Amino acid sequence: MKRSPRFVVVGAGMAGLLSAIKLDEAGFTDVTVYEKADRLGGTWRENTYPGVACDVPSHLYSYSFAPNPDWTHVFSPGAEIREYLEGVARRHGVDQRIRYGTEVTRMEHRDGRWGIETAGGPRDEADVVIAATGVLHHPSLPDIDGLDDFAGATFHSARWDHGATLEGARVGVVGTGSTAVQLVGALVDTVGELHLFQRTAQWVLPVPNRPFTDEERALYRAEPGTMRALRDELSKTFTEGFANAVVDAESPQVKMLQELCRANLENSVADPDLREKLRPNYRAACKRLIISPNFYEAIQRPNARLVAEGIDRVERDGIRTVDGRLHELDVLVLATGFRVDRFLRPIEVVGRDGVALNTVWAKRPSAYRSVSIPEFPNLFMLNGPNGPVGNFSLIDVAELQFAYVMQLIERLAGGGCRELCATEEATERFEAERVEAAKNTVWVTGCRSWYLDDRGVPAVWPWSFDRFREEMAAPRLEDYELVE
Ligand SMILES: Cc1cc2nc3c(=O)[nH]c(=O)nc-3n(C[C@H](O)[C@H](O)[C@H](O)COP(=O)(O)OP(=O)(O)OC[C@H]3O[C@@H](n4cnc5c(N)ncnc54)[C@H](O)[C@@H]3O)c2cc1C
Repeated sequence: MKRSPRFVVVGAGMAGLLSAIKLDEAGFTDVTVYEKADRLGGTWRENTYPGVACDVPSHLYSYSFAPNPDWTHVFSPGAEIREYLEGVARRHGVDQRIRYGTEVTRMEHRDGRWGIETAGGPRDEADVVIAATGVLHHPSLPDIDGLDDFAGATFHSARWDHGATLEGARVGVVGTGSTAVQLVGALVDTVGELHLFQRTAQWVLPVPNRPFTDEERALYRAEPGTMRALRDELSKTFTEGFANAVVDAESPQVKMLQELCRANLENSVADPDLREKLRPNYRAACKRLIISPNFYEAIQRPNARLVAEGIDRVERDGIRTVDGRLHELDVLVLATGFRVDRFLRPIEVVGRDGVALNTVWAKRPSAYRSVSIPEFPNLFMLNGPNGPVGNFSLIDVAELQFAYVMQLIERLAGGGCRELCATEEATERFEAERVEAAKNTVWVTGCRSWYLDDRGVPAVWPWSFDRFREEMAAPRLEDYELVE
């Protein structure tokens, strides 16, 4: 018998919006999206730091069903991406489904349905929950002595203090990931002094970020086919050049990336001492590769300083490094990334028979093919644990995952079963294969990165993107427990 399930989507970022749009298209209308903030956009709402932009080309970092002729740059700024997401949500009418300012705090599976509790708000029930709560979402704050003693403004890059005065100020940036590199390029012209505190040097791939011309935008508008062709071409380049390559540490593409990054360092940094400080002691792409057209140029400006000595502590007037030197600062920015092991948490999730997700994930999060967890029926994750992450579009990843999840939903709605989730056995098998495959990847060739879990195993999809696409094409139902 056909059923019309009730859906709750948690999170109105890129993946939550995608879910609402696709459910709507499939004719599922009983859908509520809970978003704890007062605006949609997730990452692109939260990160408002100077220089924030995607580092995957905008025409690839777009939904396949909503190409955008108006991207201003090859890598467009964060605010433009947020506006794009808002526009797509509006055009597809799903902004109406979002309940803002409503944080989901608890979900319990009881009598075949999910009971949902929100912070100080209403309770709800759903047959199916789509968790789109994000991966780079909970800021990771460094454990540095004296952080509270600093007299000036201190904030994480994802919580930018727009009241802090930057003009002429002495600004310290802690961290050397993609965000820190974007910040350095954007701040160096404004601030008095820029101090970049580097624990680990990074390989940097120089890719120009040129604006699109009016003519190009007019062409994309008039002939959308050209945009689709561009997206396909970019997808192929990123799949073959990055995603498929990094899972084989010996691949020619990884060697080529290494060579391009090395040449960039040699040719762009004039001072030999600075060049050596900026030279990583591990292989390119072991950490997520930094894409930047101007980092080396910016860090060589007279008002920029690279501080490669370790941080001893933060004091009232600045940062003291282990060599005893005090670097006096007015503003301190922590570009120290995110807690990537949170996923659904801190939501308290209770599955069948009182099984708590916190217990199941006590050591580390895992999931069958990153979307389903045994004993947590009809709960599907987008951008969940151990999925593909790297230098390619997470929109592509979420679209493939949702198309896969939709096939499971159709099964539920078609009356084939009432509940489904991956089996324990299939999940364990998948996890064992994943850990084994991770041994061949470039991520385990001798660096510390946010890809690695507490055991040093990359907590990501260790196979090619082509394989991901194949596996997401159709669920293997024998790996699922179907309950009538
Ligand atoms: C600075 C930065 C740059 C990036 N650049 C790229 C890039 O170039 N290419 C790329 O592919 N990826 C990039 N990413 C990764 C980016 O996070 C993803 O591409 C994408 O935005 C993730 O979308 P999402 O919907 O899964 O999660 P998010 O965007 O994190 O959205 C999750 C949403 O869920 C909400 N939420 C969470 N918990 C709850 C709860 N309990 N109740 C209610 N609501 C909740 C949050 O408020 C948020 O709105 C970048 C990330 C950062 C931080």
